[in-house]
Amino acid sequence: MAKYDIIIIGGGHNGLVAAGYLAKAGLKTLVLERREIVGGAAVTEEIYPGFRCSTLSHSAAPFSSQVVKDLGLNRYGVEFITPAARVFAPAPDGRSICIYEDTAQTIRELEKVSAKDAKSYLAFQRSFSRIGGLLAPLLTMTPPAIEHPSAGELWNLGKLGRSFRNLGKQDAYRLLRWGPMAVADLVAEWFETETMRAVVAARGIFGAFAGPWSAGTSTGLLWQAAMDGHAIGPAAFVKGGMGALTEALAGAARNAGVEIRTGASVENIEVNEDRAANLFLNSGEELASRAIVSNADPRATFLKLLDPVCLDPSFLLKIRNYRATGVSAKINLALSGLPTFTGVEDDEVSTKLSGRIHIGPDIDYLERAFDAAKYGDYSPLPYMEITIPSLLDPALAPAGAQVMSVYIQYAPYRLKEGDWNSRREEFADHVIDVLSSYAPNLKELVVARQVITPLDLEETYGMSGGHIHHGEQSLDQFFTFRPLIGWAQYRTPIKGLYLCGAGTHPGGGVTGGPGANAAREIIKDFKTGKM
Ligand SMILES: Cc1cc2nc3c(=O)[nH]c(=O)nc-3n(C[C@H](O)[C@H](O)[C@H](O)COP(=O)(O)OP(=O)(O)OC[C@H]3O[C@@H](n4cnc5c(N)ncnc54)[C@H](O)[C@@H]3O)c2cc1C
Repeated sequence: MAKYDIIIIGGGHNGLVAAGYLAKAGLKTLVLERREIVGGAAVTEEIYPGFRCSTLSHSAAPFSSQVVKDLGLNRYGVEFITPAARVFAPAPDGRSICIYEDTAQTIRELEKVSAKDAKSYLAFQRSFSRIGGLLAPLLTMTPPAIEHPSAGELWNLGKLGRSFRNLGKQDAYRLLRWGPMAVADLVAEWFETETMRAVVAARGIFGAFAGPWSAGTSTGLLWQAAMDGHAIGPAAFVKGGMGALTEALAGAARNAGVEIRTGASVENIEVNEDRAANLFLNSGEELASRAIVSNADPRATFLKLLDPVCLDPSFLLKIRNYRATGVSAKINLALSGLPTFTGVEDDEVSTKLSGRIHIGPDIDYLERAFDAAKYGDYSPLPYMEITIPSLLDPALAPAGAQVMSVYIQYAPYRLKEGDWNSRREEFADHVIDVLSSYAPNLKELVVARQVITPLDLEETYGMSGGHIHHGEQSLDQFFTFRPLIGWAQYRTPIKGLYLCGAGTHPGGGVTGGPGANAAREIIKDFKTGKM
């Protein structure tokens, strides 16, 4: 008799969300996390004595309010912070753009640079908000089976069709047209200011092996609008850093009866007659459960944890072709004070620098940054997304000091020359040099730095290919295609083995979506005796 109903491999935020729902449904659940702390890519760690930072992700996508409610996360101390600014974008010549939470304030700001863009912004935002509202139900939906959709799936699709008809001709046409478009084309239809175009386009390329001229990159804007009614990503911070969210998820899960073991790395899953049987830890320990749920990414789950002979050759070929080549790196800085940024007056610091800071002043800059990755090198002028979380959450750093979280793209997983371990410091020096043209006094403030390369993302954080979303989120790996067509319903060809991480719908970002959707399907299988 197995001691557990479910064992979840990985205590990333999606594994913890799934664990919480499964335990609440009465299933005895164990989470095994290979690192010493839970959270996966949503963790807060001390980067230097007294300085704590969200090591990887620094802003939620945003996180599902339904999951917060269902799992009672407020009782575990979760506090979300919404800064006044969504994103501030300085240019080296001193000009800048700031998108605020408040639409009227954004329009006033845009009027200073372009009357046309100020006028377009409201129409742009309203259109994305309406289209996002139509798409939002997809996020919590299990993608329909393509070959034999069930009556329930057909009903849901019918409902979506009716909402589509209610959208009105103009937005319906836009939705159909925008999805496959290059985001550079889309933004050019709305805005004339180069920095505004680049700020909006950034959501289409975040984490992607793609540039703004790549086809299909507008999907990122539509998906963002589905999540929070806005095409421009939010600054959705958590007090105490992202780790405070996953600590709360772990607390809620434990309270519901989940057992969580850290420092427990799963080595392989044994399969008996096409069914997941026991699993083995790297310590040699063997554990048994009625079902296994993997929060590891699809490539790691199928190509590392399973013996390939357990998989049908055509499935194996498809999963080998699943694209997961990362382009992101991270540098976290402990600073002795707040850097000055070009384009920010003294009395604007607490607002303009409170959200995300976008470095990438025009579309050509972003595309050229991607060019380098195509040819196996990091960008000479990288696209960056920066946050200074200690501005609104001073407990993260000693009095008067700050922590700065710098997300960098493009840093391709495969370098043509040398390797990431030998080029780590040279890369970090280069990034700080580039950043200094926007924050001139940065270098003199740096007390310590933590450099995380795509190789570290794979080796330390378990993300295959260093891909921050557990695989490209392009149209061919999206919704009913995520991770593979025919296998988008969290089940796998191995009976009793499920997926629940960012490699499943609705994909990457700290949302809790994949974990919640997967749990619903697993509970259904337990209830209907399919397990
Ligand atoms: C540098 C970076 C910046 C990002 N920035 C943002 C951002 O600002 N906003 C945003 O919304 N998203 C961001 N993301 C993306 C987001 O963090 C991820 O998409 C999301 O956290 C994935 O969550 P997950 O639970 O599915 O997987 P993960 O967080 O990857 O968790 C998987 C867990 O499984 C564990 N594991 C793997 N293999 C095993 C094994 N064999 N045995 C035991 N445990 C195992 C891993 O250690 C890990 O804890 C960023 C990601 C990175 C890397």
